[in-house]
Amino acid sequence: MKQDMVLPIRAEQGKHGVRMILAVASGKGGTGKTTVSVNLARVFGPGMRLLDCDVEEPNDHLFLKGAPRGEETVTIPVPQVDESLCDGCGECGRFCEYHAIVSFGTTPLVFPEMCHGCGGCAKVCPKKAIRETGQRIGVVETMESGNVTLIQGRLDVGVAMSPPLIRAVKARLRNGVPAILDAPPGTSCPVIATLRGADFVVLVTEPTPFGLHDLKLAVDMVRVLRIPFGVVVNRVGIGDDRVHAFCGDEGIPILLEIPDDRRIAEAYSRGELIVEALPEYRAHFERLREVVLERTSSDRHDPGRVTTRIAAPQGSTSQR
Ligand code: SF4
Ligand code: SF4
Repeated sequence: MKQDMVLPIRAEQGKHGVRMILAVASGKGGTGKTTVSVNLARVFGPGMRLLDCDVEEPNDHLFLKGAPRGEETVTIPVPQVDESLCDGCGECGRFCEYHAIVSFGTTPLVFPEMCHGCGGCAKVCPKKAIRETGQRIGVVETMESGNVTLIQGRLDVGVAMSPPLIRAVKARLRNGVPAILDAPPGTSCPVIATLRGADFVVLVTEPTPFGLHDLKLAVDMVRVLRIPFGVVVNRVGIGDDRVHAFCGDEGIPILLEIPDDRRIAEAYSRGELIVEALPEYRAHFERLREVVLERTSSDRHDPGRVTTRIAAPQGSTSQR
């Protein structure tokens, strides 16, 4: 694969000790979040980290093909009760808000699939009857692809507990190394677990009524988290202008508009990066990079301004 030209990273020291932690999120799946994450990662300088936190369905590796560098198993501590010490007092069950350990005046039952591994039951047990054992929930995989180190979590089949695995992926953030966090879709706990600690969030949406509905939810979420954010509108040309009107009314900067270009959908279906398959788009992602770095370092907002608009190509059609 052709090695891209790389530019120096100019992000300032972030508030978490890492130069820049950028999260890419969307209120719903299928809006182009992966497209923005992988293409933006590619146009950064050497040493960029991309953390795929969509651990139920990681797919950044489909576009950033590279050499595997390692795999680590992730476990969470779940309680194991020593019947010889337990007197059935029930303190552990009363403590556990997830009902993962239940006592009816006898030795408690443990439901490992519901346990969040918080360790609280062991701490409150007056008889010291609970010890913790590691229960596997998935793996963290690392691979190298050109300028990008891709780190992805992969949740085991049947495991419903993604936040601990997301935290394990984020534990691979390194001081002084800029990173992009590709969040799961939606606005639920796994997304919150991903966004916490980010310096800036890019919300990806589509100019459709569904896109607007989910964008509003996502905006509410990042405002509660008090993280600066901006919007990328994908597939401009379909739908209507209500996303733009909403952003204008709310003073939300639109950082990039990507047109509804059939060639993008075709490149996506072949597992190719836009910035490599369609070089005319590269400058726009580089401009997005500059805008994000500027906002990450300054936390400045520029309400309502469209920073980068990519002209729709001749004969563009809907991507399906
Ligand atoms: S470790 Fe936490 S979540 Fe798991 S059973 Fe104990 S109290 Fe409940
Ligand atoms: S808190 Fe300890 S002693 Fe009490 S029921 Fe739970 S395991 Fe048994």
